[in-house]
Amino acid sequence: MYDVIIIGGGPSGLMASIAAASNNQKVLLIEKGKKLGKKLIISGGGRCNVTNRLPLDEIVKHIPGNGRFLHSPFSVFNNEDIISFFEGLGVALKEEDHGRMFPVSNRAQDVAEAMFKEMDRLNVAVLLDSPVKKLLMTDEHITGVRLHTGEEYTAKAIVVAVGGKAVPQTGSTGDGYPWAEKAGHTVTDLYPTEVPLLSKEPFIVSRELQGLALRDPAVTVLNKKGKVLVTHQMDMLFTHFGLSGPAVLRCSQYVVKEMKKNGGAPVEMRINSLPDENAESAFQLLNKMMKDEPKKSVKNVWKSLAQERWLLFLLDRADINPQITGAELPSDKVRAFAQQLTAFAMFVNGTQPIEKAFVTGGGVSIKEIEPKTMASKKKPGLYFCGEILDIHGYTGGYNITSALVTGNVAGQSAARFAKESPIESGV
Ligand SMILES: Cc1cc2nc3c(=O)[nH]c(=O)nc-3n(C[C@H](O)[C@H](O)[C@H](O)COP(=O)(O)OP(=O)(O)OC[C@H]3O[C@@H](n4cnc5c(N)ncnc54)[C@H](O)[C@@H]3O)c2cc1C
Repeated sequence: MYDVIIIGGGPSGLMASIAAASNNQKVLLIEKGKKLGKKLIISGGGRCNVTNRLPLDEIVKHIPGNGRFLHSPFSVFNNEDIISFFEGLGVALKEEDHGRMFPVSNRAQDVAEAMFKEMDRLNVAVLLDSPVKKLLMTDEHITGVRLHTGEEYTAKAIVVAVGGKAVPQTGSTGDGYPWAEKAGHTVTDLYPTEVPLLSKEPFIVSRELQGLALRDPAVTVLNKKGKVLVTHQMDMLFTHFGLSGPAVLRCSQYVVKEMKKNGGAPVEMRINSLPDENAESAFQLLNKMMKDEPKKSVKNVWKSLAQERWLLFLLDRADINPQITGAELPSDKVRAFAQQLTAFAMFVNGTQPIEKAFVTGGGVSIKEIEPKTMASKKKPGLYFCGEILDIHGYTGGYNITSALVTGNVAGQSAARFAKESPIESGV
């Protein structure tokens, strides 16, 4: 018998195994795939955005899916602890824009290998290529796991760290949700988050904007009454199927939730290419620019406002010949162009599937998890951590932070639980 079994070798499971073994417990980590940390290694564009250095309140704000639940785990282990942890393992980190922390080497592999080495040092036993089929339990407590091969392993405490359903080729295929339900937990609706959006607008179908990237526009999602649900100012991209890029990924969960609410109807989005202006101030700005250079074509007068491809597209939407001079252009057309520049409206009608999302929304309900220990409130000895929980953040290191923090707390608590257990261990 082991003291603690961890199921899943993603960031949350790796960290849980280290935390449990640091508490002098006999730990077994069971991973379905042939390798540990597959998703960790591709995260952050292969550089591993290991955490974020913004203040904790800001981190919580960037985790719109139940980020507030993390206040408690953060009081045990937080982003600064993650930084000290990796630096202690010899992985030098650097801060980039928006507080994002990466290894100085820019190699996710270095982050993963440092964790593997630490597991070795702490004698964590690892079983690879060994998918767990089910949790073993009595009415009173958890007792172990059964693999698909039929082999069983017993332990005093079990940490479930099998991730969500996004990018299943990394091993995260949603195996843990039915186990949680069997143990008496509620699993909230699962949906894709941080996912590209689909659109049937003619300019998307015709692919005329495919590959166009806008630098730092303000992208807004509206509900069916025209109320603003969220605005994100970051880069975005037009693709052959719709929209992508950081601002769009951040907006995507609001689109999913709005479509759920409105019975699947398309959702309106707005793009403000001049985020410091509104339609009126942009109108004034356009007029001033025209007055300064009345003999030039408007295409040339306004070329500093947007890249040419986007500018020409918006001029066309406002029914303006780009070669016309300012002196010839009626004021209502200038207003129409100001509107296009500051509130370009389009509809989206869905997202790519959860398999193509960066992160899973929904999961094991946090209402049934003790936030200071990550213990199940339903089954003594059972712990959850990482993306399987109903916690999801924006990309930018927030999900890995959540996985590492909940993993650390789950590992420590499972070790404490095992130490206090009256059952004798021994393999
Ligand atoms: C392309 C990509 C880029 C990303 N970039 C970022 C980023 O920059 N910043 C950020 O914060 N987040 C990012 N994320 C999200 C982040 O990687 C995840 O939220 C995080 O890996 C979740 O960690 P986890 O340990 O909970 O689960 P996972 O990393 O999904 O690990 C779960 C593990 O459990 C194993 N497993 C599953 N079922 C079983 C079973 N039955 N038996 C045994 N083992 C099992 C799986 O094989 C897997 O190894 C990215 C995600 C993707 C897909």
